[in-house]
Amino acid sequence: MRPTRTLREAREAMASGTTVRALTEAALAEARRQAHLNAFLELFEESALAQADRVDAAVRQGTAGPLAGLMLSIKDNICYKDHRVGASSRILEGFTSLYSATVVERLLAAGAVIIGRTNCDEFAMGSSNENSAYGPVANPLDPARVPGGSSGGAAASVAAGIVHAALGSDTGGSIRQPASFTGTVGLKPTYGRVSRYGLIAFASSFDQIGPFARTVEDATAVYNAMAGQDPLDSTTSARPSPPITLRDPGKLRIAYYRECVERPGVAPAVRQAMTALVERLQAEGHRVEPAELPLLDHQVPTYYIIATAEASSNLARFDGIHYGHRSKAARGVEETYRLSRSEGFGPEVQRRILLGTFVLSAGYYDAYYAQAQRVRRLIRDATLRTLADHDLILLPTCPITAFEQGALTADPIAMYLQDIFTVQANLAGNPAISVPLGSDDQGLPFGAQLMAAPFGEEVLLRAAAHLLPA
Ligand code: GLN
Repeated sequence: MRPTRTLREAREAMASGTTVRALTEAALAEARRQAHLNAFLELFEESALAQADRVDAAVRQGTAGPLAGLMLSIKDNICYKDHRVGASSRILEGFTSLYSATVVERLLAAGAVIIGRTNCDEFAMGSSNENSAYGPVANPLDPARVPGGSSGGAAASVAAGIVHAALGSDTGGSIRQPASFTGTVGLKPTYGRVSRYGLIAFASSFDQIGPFARTVEDATAVYNAMAGQDPLDSTTSARPSPPITLRDPGKLRIAYYRECVERPGVAPAVRQAMTALVERLQAEGHRVEPAELPLLDHQVPTYYIIATAEASSNLARFDGIHYGHRSKAARGVEETYRLSRSEGFGPEVQRRILLGTFVLSAGYYDAYYAQAQRVRRLIRDATLRTLADHDLILLPTCPITAFEQGALTADPIAMYLQDIFTVQANLAGNPAISVPLGSDDQGLPFGAQLMAAPFGEEVLLRAAAHLLPA
């Protein structure tokens, strides 16, 4: 059989006798058939089929969880006990997880089947998936183009119709931007809403795990099963997280960042579709009004200073001694550190460690790191002010559609600027979602982005389901 595209379709197939094992075999076969995408680094065939049998037994006994029938992939920075994980880096080549991330435990308990681990930018650093030590991922809609990043394999695994949903991580846009580039839905939850226990850390004050799916309904189902406090991650919130139902949210007050649509560099198709969307929402009775975007030109620099600072600290553990690749050529402790890290980390990761070490070093700390923290506070305060008298903020997910492989690799700054519309939600910590909005004259998709106040996932998901096309 061909894989089903949504959990709802899988449920229908199950109602007419299809087993979860058959769904799983179909997903695995489809992943193999589309191996040329390079979306998966490994298929977890054995554990996937064993889980499928457990879920089938639960279905027969009437005890199946809410995600029974869901085919899921996990990004290669999310730990799954007794399975390999490597953040698409050579430094973790051959490493096996000793424990499962909380999200993995919760999704397995809810009945999901994990098909395999997906390719990504090394340590989630990138916007195109071209920084993986295991090669780039092809965009299923046009293999000459990138799927976005850093969760490129995750996005491709959904867009290619292999799985219903994928787990990615979003530090500066790594779920929303690839969702925009592949015509999928991508949700970055509120910081503290979903446990980071078992996520390989990049920048701990920004990182959040979130779902990709074909529909808001499926993204919500995955979110519902994994959100909520976790004693193993002290940054998770104690607020209750009752499952969200996708009722019509009624008429909303929406702040609109016109500046993000009118600025140079935004693709004409994105501009036109956003303008048409605003007009439609107004005609439908929503109050959509322009709002001032806080410090737009400072957002990307602020993000890259803080993210690299945190990364330089988080990645110190990969030293060839505690963890990771150990150089065979090295003699003595110092050379072991130096050669292991030089051999194990790719060029972008090395650049970020150097940048992060620089902005934290004596004499530069105040000018860069401390200053960036102050600007972050201003951006957060301004974002929350706008969200105090609006239900949502509306803006594009990205200025452009998927670019060609290699187009931006020579210019790191051009690559960093891809994150211009996505880093705000990470700097402020609020939730954001990208939902397919339209496509350009070459048929390449792009998304609209909605943001809500921290812990405002309910209105965010309801609006995404009812106000936007997908
Ligand atoms: N593109 C951004 C970066 O390279 C965001 C990555 C992410 O969200 N993991 O840092």
